[in-house]
Amino acid sequence: MRIDVFTIFPGYFDSVLSTSILGRASDADLLDLRRHDLRDWATDRHRTVDDTPFGGGAGMVLAPEPIFDAVADVSPPRPLLLLSPGGRVFDQSVAQELAAGEGFSLLCGRYEGVDQRVVDRCCDGELSIGDYVLGGGEAAAAVVVEAVTRLVPGVVGNEESVDDESFRNEGLLEYPQYTRPADFRGDVVPEVLRSGDHGRIARWRRAAALRRTLARRPDLLGFDDLDDADRALLDEFPDT
Ligand code: SAM
Repeated sequence: MRIDVFTIFPGYFDSVLSTSILGRASDADLLDLRRHDLRDWATDRHRTVDDTPFGGGAGMVLAPEPIFDAVADVSPPRPLLLLSPGGRVFDQSVAQELAAGEGFSLLCGRYEGVDQRVVDRCCDGELSIGDYVLGGGEAAAAVVVEAVTRLVPGVVGNEESVDDESFRNEGLLEYPQYTRPADFRGDVVPEVLRSGDHGRIARWRRAAALRRTLARRPDLLGFDDLDDADRALLDEFPDT
């Protein structure tokens, strides 16, 4: 998977790339993350990439020329997506869409954002990682890169562990996980998980996922959405 990132802080991604899953994915050539410093396409000796906004107001805006020139020179994989609080909200289904392709590119805004002509004529879309404002697109790009890369086959060791997570399994949150010790300071792991009865464990996990999703994310699941089998599961495991 090739991912190109256009940024004025390419060094931001050093630790991202050398750590854990993304580091291993890069080493195994499953991730080819290419960083492009927009300042390399500035034309003055100060390597200026921003300017004051037309109409006045606080802050600076990333100018169009260096971005258009960088994209023309690099010819990055498409879609090229601008990180922006006003973009399409990035979620697991967007991550899956991007992971299904050969690659994509991200443009990190800074200051007050980027010139609108970049959005209209250079990018293919905008992505937001949530309803809050970051200082720049780099942290958002790191989120997108990590969420997508771990869906690339071979990146996460045990394929099952990405198939069975929150949002993947019919859009449900994941059930609670436990490890040893079975009794931690009097707080005991549910008996069913220690029973060895795999059918019962699977039913418990689904009941727990349903109940957690109903309680925490009514936007994902309402009680009326449940079929008879799922309602029966909730009755079977009232303590999930
Ligand atoms: N003036 C902009 C506004 O009010 O929408 C905010 C600009 S923000 C300070 C600078 C850059 O951070 C943005 O251009 C964008 O690239 C990035 N950014 C900030 N919040 C983001 C979010 N929630 N999702 C994705 N990118 C974000």
